[in-house]
Amino acid sequence: SVTLRYVPGIGAVAGGAVLACFEDITEREQAGQMRRDFVGNVSHELRTPLTALIGFIETLRGPAKEDAAARDRFLTIMEGEASRMNRLVGDLLSLNRVESEERVRPREKVDLTGHLASTLKTLTPVAEARGTTMVLEAPDEPVFVTGDPDQLQQVFTNLVENAVKYGGDQVRVVLTYTERDPAVRAPAARVQVIDNGPGIDAIHLPRLTERFYRADSHRSREMGGTGLGLAIVKHIVNRHRGRLRVESELGQGAVFTVILPE
Ligand code: ADP
Repeated sequence: SVTLRYVPGIGAVAGGAVLACFEDITEREQAGQMRRDFVGNVSHELRTPLTALIGFIETLRGPAKEDAAARDRFLTIMEGEASRMNRLVGDLLSLNRVESEERVRPREKVDLTGHLASTLKTLTPVAEARGTTMVLEAPDEPVFVTGDPDQLQQVFTNLVENAVKYGGDQVRVVLTYTERDPAVRAPAARVQVIDNGPGIDAIHLPRLTERFYRADSHRSREMGGTGLGLAIVKHIVNRHRGRLRVESELGQGAVFTVILPE
């Protein structure tokens, strides 16, 4: 919806017609609101682990001082909270970088087959710990696109990691190449990350790539999520003039598709 605000004093009477000047405030106010929400969210996300850290420091000064087992337990929790803050700051910096570079398309030749294979390899310990099997289905010959190798690697890592974290026990990563992809009307590669987990309720789908939006907040925090992963994915894909699609139904798993023009 568009909100128009009457700007007094700029109206003019011309030949009997009243010309009122309206200023479109929607975008400006929305941007202001979004910035306030963002600062509020970041503060909240940082304050939660900080409060826990302060609490544990106080406890360690007090009764837990003499109890070696309790001290160890508390230190492990504190390490976890500090790592959470570290991950959050890392994701904020990544997001900041990709948002500010959005208009420039990176131009390096990137071999997607190789990058996907190395993403799966890196995430193998995480998948094994959760009893998830991952498979990569890719053409025999390498598939190249133009882009930023580190950022594309980050896209695949975030999507496959999510599929492992929130999905069931199977993750399939499917890479295909089309001479003319209908979504971008150009030669393009498609990467699909498919899981057999509980899926995502349709009401969440349109907001999934918003910063700090979580479909299942409890699970996200439990898994150490920052709520920024898909926001980063969306901006990187946009930067590559690609498309990101999410299809899911409750109980039917989820399919995240990235389409990258050659
Ligand atoms: P987070 O750090 O919480 O994982 P993301 O931005 O990566 O943040 O994802 C946003 C939310 O989308 C997650 O909190 C989770 O609820 C949901 N989500 C992402 N991927 C999946 C998936 N494969 N299956 C179910 N839910 C998912």
